[in-house]
This record gives sequence, C-alpha cells and structure tokens, in this order.
Amino acid sequence: MSDPIAASDPPQGAARSEIEVPGVRPPRRVLMGPGPSDVPDEVLAALSRTTIGHLDPEFLRIMDELQQMLRAVFRTRNELTLAVSGTGSAGMETCVVNLIEPGDRMLVCISGVFGRRMADVARRAGADVRTIERPFGEVFTLEEIERAAREHAPKVVGIVHAETSTGAHQPLQNLADIVHQAGALLLVDCVTSLGGMPVEVDAWGLDAVYSGTQKCLSCPPGLAPVTFSPRAVEVIETRRTPVQSWYLDLTMVRQYWGGERTYHHTAPINMNYALHEALRLVLAEGLESRWRRHTTNHRALRAGLEAMGLRFFVAAEHRLPMLNAVWVPEGCDEAAVRRQLLRDFGIEIGAGLGPVKGKVWRIGLMGASCCPRNVLLLLAALEQCLKRQGLDVESGAATAAAADAYGNTD
Ligand SMILES: *Cc1c(COP(=O)(O)O)cnc(C)c1O
Repeated sequence: MSDPIAASDPPQGAARSEIEVPGVRPPRRVLMGPGPSDVPDEVLAALSRTTIGHLDPEFLRIMDELQQMLRAVFRTRNELTLAVSGTGSAGMETCVVNLIEPGDRMLVCISGVFGRRMADVARRAGADVRTIERPFGEVFTLEEIERAAREHAPKVVGIVHAETSTGAHQPLQNLADIVHQAGALLLVDCVTSLGGMPVEVDAWGLDAVYSGTQKCLSCPPGLAPVTFSPRAVEVIETRRTPVQSWYLDLTMVRQYWGGERTYHHTAPINMNYALHEALRLVLAEGLESRWRRHTTNHRALRAGLEAMGLRFFVAAEHRLPMLNAVWVPEGCDEAAVRRQLLRDFGIEIGAGLGPVKGKVWRIGLMGASCCPRNVLLLLAALEQCLKRQGLDVESGAATAAAADAYGNTD
C-alpha cells in the first residue's frame, strides 16, 4: 500500500521512527493440535468487516441472532445464554464466580489439567474446594461422583466433559439427577466438546456450561459461550454478596445482552461477528452431521496411527473424537517430531501436558481441521518424521489403513 507520509523522508530534525517492524504475515498452517483449529475463510472475512458501535441497532441485532444460535448449538432454551468477552478460561471463571460466594463449597472432579484449573479458579473465588481425582486419561463413574457429592454436600459440582489435556470423554448422562439430589448445581466445561460431539444442555440437565470459540467451533480465540439454567439463574439472583469479578459479573453483563442494553464494557465487536459466522456455519452443516464428521475422521485417523504402531493413551471406550492422544514411541525425540511436522509440512500438533509432558502427542481433529485431507496429510507426514527418527515404519501402511476406514479401498 502506498502511504505518502510514510514514504517520504522524515522532516529535518524530526525524530526517526523508533521501531520499524514488518507487517503481521503469519504462515499458513494446518492446525491439528489442541486448539486453535483451522478457521474457515468466511469466519475470517466476518472478523474483518467494519467495526460499528456496541449500541448500534445493527450490532444489537447481530447479538440477538448470535444468542439464538448459541442456544441452538448448546441445545437449550436457557434465557441466560451469551458470549463472554475472553477465551474459554474466562467462561470457566464466569461460571464459577457467579455461582460461588465466599465460603460456598464446590466439588471439582479432576482427571486432567482443566479440572485442576477449575479447582484453582474456585479457590481464588473463595470457595471451600473439595476434589476427587482420577489419574490423567481416566474418567469418573456416576457412583464415585454420587458418593463424593453426598459426603461433601457442595453447592456446585464442577466437571470437564472433554479433557483436552488427555483426550478422555467424561459421560454426562444421568449425572445431573445425582448432583441435583445432593442439592447441588452441575457446572460443566464443554470447551472442546461443543460443536464436535453431543452436548445436550437441557436434556442432560446441566446448570452452568461454558465453552470456547477456537476448538470445535473453528473461530479465532476470544469469546466464551456460556449458558445458565433457570435454577442457576435463581442462585445468581439471590446472592448475598456481589460477584467477586467486576468484569465477569453476569448480573450486570446480562443487562447489556438481554434487557436494558445498559453499557457495561465494550463488546469485542469483530469477535462477535466472527462467532456469528462460525455458528452460522455449524448450524448450516447441522449438529448431527458435524458430530458424525468428527467420528468418521477420528476412526480413520485411529486406524492410520495404529497401523504405524502408535498406541492411544486413553482406553478405547473413553476416547474423544476431536483429541487423539498417543504415546510417543520408545527412542523417539517427541519435540523433534513436532518441529519437523511444523517446519517441513506446516502441521501443528500438541505436546503432552502435566504428568504426560514429553510422553504423548495430542492430535486434534477439531471443527474445520477435521477432514479426510488433514487426516491423510498428517499420517503421511508423521510417517516421514518417524522414519527420520529411525523407527521401522511400513511405508504407506498408515494412509492405506485410514483410506480403508473411509471405505475408499479402490
Ligand atoms: C482450551 C480449554 C480451556 C481453556 O480455554 P482457553 O481458551 O485456552 O482459555 C478450558 N477447558 C478445556 C477443556 C479446554 O480444552
């Protein structure tokens, strides 16, 4: 672009520009890690549309549509459904600080990094936190949660639906009944599951649910969809103390999203455009088809990885379709493989976190990243990297197994 001012020499005696930096020119990648996932061009185009005011009637209309689409994606009729300004962790914090008052008891189920984070957030919010733990990669049984809920009599039970740090799927069916019988609310982390596998907020009786934009919704990071059941709203409305976080206080934020349109903080306008478009694409595809797409590609990826001799970290019955954690084979430099994938093939995958740091790779199949092209590309590229590491891998076995799984045997 020609800019006559920038192009001319600085006037005599004027300070020279302090720093000269090139423009932002990120390389094109294939995002197959734990998020962010590939963002469709339509979503990037929406993000770049002209910025208007946060009280402009046209923006308010966009927000109303966004809210309706969020309800559809969450499968809920919950009135209090909106997109918090901030990433998934801001959604986590919003759910915790609005339900918890200092001294309230919260039971957190921990089987990975994000369960741990939830307990940390709750402690900082002044909760009397009790935890039950499972080794990374495992999930809880209903009986375990029921026992703990009876024993601790918490106000809120928090659990992670899709543990992105391990690739384990925590079943949620029938859990709400148990939690409600113990007199508690059920708070669920659906950051990675939303848009990639069933999340049935109303049918499963979930009380407070948060998600993020950059996992299976395939939008850049920056907003956190949340939804609260009428039961949870009542708890918020009858608080004795103000919400510990001013910024995340839904008693104020909801006045902007719903009722009075009162200014609280400036909505991240363009992020809302992007999420609007991302949700439009999710619903145009159809939730069920989208879930099926995640399962189909996961099956093909699994067949390919196993044909290369890689083993999954999580037991078969608890695996997530969108996050595939596999053990790093003996004698393999795990960081070197990730570096080569990125440098030679432009593919990003994730490293292990917490106790499995350096021991597993986490291969994401989230949203727009979840397609046969990426599965076959990753398998072919990984084969090259493993050979470079001196592993004995049969040429073409992985892609052939994946193609078989797709039913494409010719
Ligand atoms: C990514 C993730 C988060 C945190 O979201 P950020 O957008 O990184 O703040 C929380 N929980 C789970 C399960 C996640 O996968």
